[in-house]
Amino acid sequence: MSDTLHAAVRAARTGNDEFLLTPGPLTTSLTVKQAMLRDWGSRDKQFIALNARIRERLVEIAGGEGEYVCVPVQGSGTFSVEATLGTLLPRDGRLLVLVNGAYGERMMKIAKYLGRSALALTCAEDRTPDLASLDALLAEDSAITHVAAVHCETTSGILNPIREIAGLVSKHGRSLIIDAMSAFGAIPLDVREVACDAVVASSNKCLEGVPGMGYAIVRRSALEACEGNAHSLSLDLYDQWRGLEGNGQWRFTPPTHVLAAFDQAVSEFEAEGGVPARNARYSENCRVLVDGMRALGFETLLPDALQAPIIVTFHMPADANFDFGAFYDRLAARGYVIYPGKLTVAPTFRIGCIGQLVREDLEAALAVIRETLNDMGVTQCAPA
Ligand SMILES: *Cc1c(COP(=O)(O)O)cnc(C)c1O
Repeated sequence: MSDTLHAAVRAARTGNDEFLLTPGPLTTSLTVKQAMLRDWGSRDKQFIALNARIRERLVEIAGGEGEYVCVPVQGSGTFSVEATLGTLLPRDGRLLVLVNGAYGERMMKIAKYLGRSALALTCAEDRTPDLASLDALLAEDSAITHVAAVHCETTSGILNPIREIAGLVSKHGRSLIIDAMSAFGAIPLDVREVACDAVVASSNKCLEGVPGMGYAIVRRSALEACEGNAHSLSLDLYDQWRGLEGNGQWRFTPPTHVLAAFDQAVSEFEAEGGVPARNARYSENCRVLVDGMRALGFETLLPDALQAPIIVTFHMPADANFDFGAFYDRLAARGYVIYPGKLTVAPTFRIGCIGQLVREDLEAALAVIRETLNDMGVTQCAPA
């Protein structure tokens, strides 16, 4: 497909001149954006029904019908993580966080802000948590009440072994909280098989809505015991839940347009074929991206076995003509927005494969990357 033809096709699909190859916010469909062209009253019956519909379908995506409830929270994903930790952890609880990237670190930081006792089991960003150490720590430290883990650590794009982690946490009778932000809807996670008290995600990642809200899918019996735990009124998940269960309304101004767009996004997710279909599309995007970049000489941070089909970390090329800032600007000027690295282990950059993207979009991005490297005089894409 020619450059201009592809640009016209992608504009019809997304309404965008550019593509976000990032961890979020992401490229959304034109129809998701169009769903925001209406103002809603927060007490409108149709709006209340829309909220109930979203909450129900999110619980279904997690396989939690009957036992779990969905509690949405205004703000970005971090607000929902903070609300979930602050509400589920009793004041005298103790949190163990599995850390192999910035989002695990962030949960430690949240625990400090909340004044909750916490410790980290940390490993390198290109490694998955050591399960034997987790087992030993849970056996040793009886004060630990909760474990927090990240499903896909977006910092590197690594897929953490959530099923095995959940098995150990459950064996030791502790409660698991999963930050599934960048995986939910694209990587299978069924709470009937992965025992946990909460799964946290947001509107603007793999379900392809616009940013502005997150949500936790929480085991009802666990949430029922959480009255009075929260440190914050606006981030009290228990109170938010009671409010929604009471009259179907949010306690405070809901992000109405974000919810209208999210309702449409979830419908499009279902029409596409749910988690298996989204996983297949993102996996194909990821394969095309990784194969294409390797053909140019780039190296991925992670071996394929640890790579989630969400975002890929590449080592910076050693070539003296390569300057990431210039590379980024040239790609952005041609409609492809990539992402800097966030790692401490090595200089890297990232390219996402999630959002309203298909194989042809990644192929077009690779063609532009190839031309840009030529223009910059970069011939050696392998790292030092
Ligand atoms: C995106 C993301 C978050 C939330 O980040 P926000 O910037 O607050 O939306 C949390 N955890 C993970 C793993 C993420 O990818």
